[in-house]
Amino acid sequence: MDVRPSEEHIAFQKSVRDFARSEIAPHVAQWDEAGRLPVEIVHAMGDLGLFGLPFPEEWGGSGADFLSMCLAIEEIGRVDQSVGITLSAGVGLGASPIHRFGNDEQRGRWLPDLLAGRALAAFGLTEPDAGSDARATTTRARAAGDRWVLNGAKAFITNSGTPITSLVTVTAKTAEDEISAFIVPAGTPGLSVQPPLRKLGWHASDTHDVALEDCHVGPDALLGAIGSGFKQFLSILDDGRIAISALAVGCAQACLDAALEYAKQRPAFGGPIGRFQAVAFALADLAVAVENARNLTYKAAWYKDTGQPFREAAAMAKLYSTESAVSATRTATQIFGGAGFMEESPVARLYRDAKILEIGEGTSEIQRLVIARGLGLPVG
Ligand SMILES: Cc1cc2nc3c(=O)[nH]c(=O)nc-3n(C[C@H](O)[C@H](O)[C@H](O)COP(=O)(O)OP(=O)(O)OC[C@H]3O[C@@H](n4cnc5c(N)ncnc54)[C@H](O)[C@@H]3O)c2cc1C
Repeated sequence: MDVRPSEEHIAFQKSVRDFARSEIAPHVAQWDEAGRLPVEIVHAMGDLGLFGLPFPEEWGGSGADFLSMCLAIEEIGRVDQSVGITLSAGVGLGASPIHRFGNDEQRGRWLPDLLAGRALAAFGLTEPDAGSDARATTTRARAAGDRWVLNGAKAFITNSGTPITSLVTVTAKTAEDEISAFIVPAGTPGLSVQPPLRKLGWHASDTHDVALEDCHVGPDALLGAIGSGFKQFLSILDDGRIAISALAVGCAQACLDAALEYAKQRPAFGGPIGRFQAVAFALADLAVAVENARNLTYKAAWYKDTGQPFREAAAMAKLYSTESAVSATRTATQIFGGAGFMEESPVARLYRDAKILEIGEGTSEIQRLVIARGLGLPVG
């Protein structure tokens, strides 16, 4: 078994790193302050091929493996988590359901723009009263001739209100015990995207609640077989958890980079603080956590890339990497002292951004549930 990135992977990773440093890093503070990303950065990532990475060339993708996707998300996330989640959600939650469950007509209609970064799609699973318990969805789809009428509400939906959002996929009940998935094109009457949500972190990432009120969609809106929506969306989350794990590795690595540099130059008691064991050991532990998180992420990607079951591996990677990232932001902020509490410091934003990693695409508790069930425990 060899889960290490190849030379090609490493060259690709370097090209994304260079892009992130030159095109993203100089603007991060301003985008965070403004609370939104310019669409140009999405287009630029599209031009670099990042939105099409794990998709076949037939639809405009580059046919790369999932490990390449992880490397890209890690590098972008190392520079900015908001841009990282915009990419990760755009690919995993946005384009992927259309590619995996859509028919060729739906793929042909939506994928070329999504894979080129000309458009973004959103994924509407969570509802005000159905988060971890996503099966409790109350959004309904009623058949009306050959059309569907959707009513309900979706909560906290990433990339749902950008100027280039082309569609939202949603789950909805088509019968009492039946959940199906639908594509709702942006601008469909009855689909209303609520004002941007004010968040603790990920300020520049686009998040809105979405309402569906007598929203009529055509027969071509049904995504996959009727009744298969819940299963489809859960399997999308399995992929997404590896991607969030990669984003968390980027976050933890950024903490290590910043805190290490600071520890080498910040003077106290006649020399740099990095000579104190308390600081040096904290950085050593942080380096181990980054390495472990990266290994779990790459291993989960390798399972996926080699066609092996990966649900538990993805849950383990997400659980460990995201909890490590949150802990890394605490450590890095502590090493920066008071300067770490200031908005200008690189670690203050990471501190705010990290927490959601333990919540989105399945909380840490839900990852533990998946892992425990994988161990054969009948935990509910
Ligand atoms: C910024 C942001 C972006 C998001 N983007 C999207 C998106 O694009 N699409 C989308 O569909 N959703 C999105 N979400 C929603 C996200 O996936 C949910 O918030 C998450 O799944 C948790 O659901 P919840 O918030 O309803 O919490 P709840 O499910 O209410 O959980 C509350 C607490 O109870 C715990 N808990 C619940 N059930 C169990 C259990 N069985 N065992 C143990 N503990 C349990 C949870 O772990 C948590 O600690 C986003 C959320 C945020 C904040």
